[in-house]
Amino acid sequence: MISVRLSFVAVMTMAIAGCAAGDHTGPVAAKPATVNALIIANLTGTAGVALPSAPTFTVADAAGNSLSGIAVTVTVTAGGGALAGSPTTSAKGATPVGTWTLGKTAGLNTITVTVAGLTPVDIMATGTAGAPAALTVSSGNNQSAFAGTSLALPAVLKVADQFGNAVATSSVVFTVSAGGGSLSGSRTVVADANGSVTAPLWKLGNLAIPQALSAASGVLSVSVLAAVATSFYPSLRFFGPPVDPSIQDSFTRAVQRAQGMITGALELIDVRNLDVAANCGVTGIAPLTETVSDVIIFATVKPIDGVGKILGSSGPCYIRNPSNLPVVGVMTFDVADFQGLVNDGRLDEVVLHEMQHVFGFGTLWSRFGLIVNAATPLTAYTGMQGILGCQASGGGAGICLPAIPLENLGGSGTRDGHWRRAIFGNELMTGFVGPVGFQMPLSAMTIGALGDMGYIVNTSVNDSFTTGSALALSLQQLRSAQGLDPSEMSDLPLPPVATISRSGKITRIQKQ
Ligand SMILES: [Zn+2]
Repeated sequence: MISVRLSFVAVMTMAIAGCAAGDHTGPVAAKPATVNALIIANLTGTAGVALPSAPTFTVADAAGNSLSGIAVTVTVTAGGGALAGSPTTSAKGATPVGTWTLGKTAGLNTITVTVAGLTPVDIMATGTAGAPAALTVSSGNNQSAFAGTSLALPAVLKVADQFGNAVATSSVVFTVSAGGGSLSGSRTVVADANGSVTAPLWKLGNLAIPQALSAASGVLSVSVLAAVATSFYPSLRFFGPPVDPSIQDSFTRAVQRAQGMITGALELIDVRNLDVAANCGVTGIAPLTETVSDVIIFATVKPIDGVGKILGSSGPCYIRNPSNLPVVGVMTFDVADFQGLVNDGRLDEVVLHEMQHVFGFGTLWSRFGLIVNAATPLTAYTGMQGILGCQASGGGAGICLPAIPLENLGGSGTRDGHWRRAIFGNELMTGFVGPVGFQMPLSAMTIGALGDMGYIVNTSVNDSFTTGSALALSLQQLRSAQGLDPSEMSDLPLPPVATISRSGKITRIQKQ
């Protein structure tokens, strides 16, 4: 019994199916003659996203009557999109194509409706970029340039949607986020039709530290990185009592500034059993046996002479023969003066000043023949790069030429080893620490003086400084008002003690 009933049901189902198949075309089947896309003009949608409403088509006979039940195939034929729920037969009237998700790449998308025996018809839609979802650097990342100079090429960024399609008209705001550089021109740039954004001209900072430019657009952001070019790598080493990390930072910044200013490497030199404790006062440090690539700078903070007067001493200890440039230098600071300099914000400048003496400023000039009339009121500096820097700082012929006036006051270390304060006022390398609240700019003249000794220098990192006796005068008056003795807070540049030849031969320098 069970098998009979099953057969009956099966036969009935087949009969119903047969009836249904014959009904829709009627007794006289209309023949499909055309397939028409019911185009919506300029059909557009977001790339990678389904169109909000499905386009439609009709299948019609020769008289234009739409026909239902005609077998159709609808397929994606361009643009890489996808169809879901597409029909297999025509409907009476407009037949939706199903859910059409456009391809992920912005541009033309096509689906094709095919009916056997008829010319297929295309339905087209243009996919456009979606909302901004990515901000990337297309070019110009990780360039390098000398400190204080602009990168050769501007960075170019791209604003894109989640599939990488360019998004136009987004505003991108640029900010220097590391390295202390600066931007010129508008910091807000609008993406062009290609989603492309060209960053403003970026001048790197003065220190040899990592440089970064932040670009932001809405919630999106990206960093453009750059490096300061230099081949000068002084080795900074502390000795003696532990030095507070915040104070060490001032030394580190001075080295970074020096790297921005001096860009060429010094000659490699091998040293063996170099006794820096006995000859340079670097107590507690074992004799050095190593290859020195540029210069080793030892630094310490210890008691010297109490508050005021000598705040520190510094200079090259061993120098190269024949170049006369330093191998080992020492900076010694008076602990009694140090905390005051930390507190009043002058420590960075004082450390930077003393480091110039290690490089040879004022301490190696006589070896290079850069001084005339030493130890007289007419003591002056004759190096041509220094003179050019003096002129660049606004000094006229009477100041910079024929030679730059050097300090003719103060102690033996102050005289002949610094620019004359009465003329150059607050410049970093005058012989007395500037008053609190006044910057001590590092001028093109000071950088030029390094160049005169044979350093390869970058003249783009000088601070803004204008030579003017009126400023010097005002500073002197200020010092008087503060009740400071002009001889206070000066330093003691030290000359070298020995030369080292390429073969390692050490020759002591006779004291003059
Ligand atoms: Zn000095």
